[in-house]
Amino acid sequence: MAPPGPQPEATATDTNPDGSVVALKLDRRLRVRRALETISSVLVDGSAGKTAIVSSFGGESAVLLALVAEVAPDAPVIFLETGKHFPETLRHRDQLVARLGLTNVQSIAPDATALSDEDPDGTLWARDTDQCCTIRKVLPLERTLAGYDAWITGRKRFQAATRNALPFVEWDGQHVKINPLADWTADDLAAFMDERDLPLHPLTKQGFPSIGCMPCTERVEDGEDARAGRWRGSGKTECGIHLPKDRAA
Ligand code: SF4
Repeated sequence: MAPPGPQPEATATDTNPDGSVVALKLDRRLRVRRALETISSVLVDGSAGKTAIVSSFGGESAVLLALVAEVAPDAPVIFLETGKHFPETLRHRDQLVARLGLTNVQSIAPDATALSDEDPDGTLWARDTDQCCTIRKVLPLERTLAGYDAWITGRKRFQAATRNALPFVEWDGQHVKINPLADWTADDLAAFMDERDLPLHPLTKQGFPSIGCMPCTERVEDGEDARAGRWRGSGKTECGIHLPKDRAA
């Protein structure tokens, strides 16, 4: 017979011999819930004002987009159509849009005059990657986001040493930026994609964990940062859209 008084609470190991598995699953569930609550607060309740999602439709973009589709499938999703993407990325974009039922994906092209003035033969990336990113990504996004108060990104801390202190919410000098997946690991992403049966970007299994424009994206070796194949050997680590506005200009 149990002694009188308060009884100890049951622990995971009382019901499951491998408590670490229980802890891992619970941790993942709570991480998904936190991300969903953040996205819902921003997109449904409008807690950050008028907000867009920016997606590259790259390696694991399906995770953020699936969470968005769950609470606000009509939210604006901005895709920077640089004209330099892998064909696989464009097909993946179309597949995800159909699969998730996203109804407001906007493919934003660079300014035609800037292209004809500065990159008439399409090879600026080989001479000046910063300027190429400026006219194909930074300026088109700035023009688009001028109509918004905030944006949501899919960035994660594990992706690169330069992102290991990524906050959930930040100010970029012009907009509030929300990073609901900041604390997700590669395993979290894989588990979520598996659970939801989400399609992988076709290049992910071919050694491209981070996928940008075709001329500036190479395969990554085991043990390298996920973004090590981006602008490899150039010292460049970001296209500029994620730099604080006083540095990206
Ligand atoms: S990633 Fe490369 S091709 Fe794409 S905009 Fe930047 S420099 Fe140009």
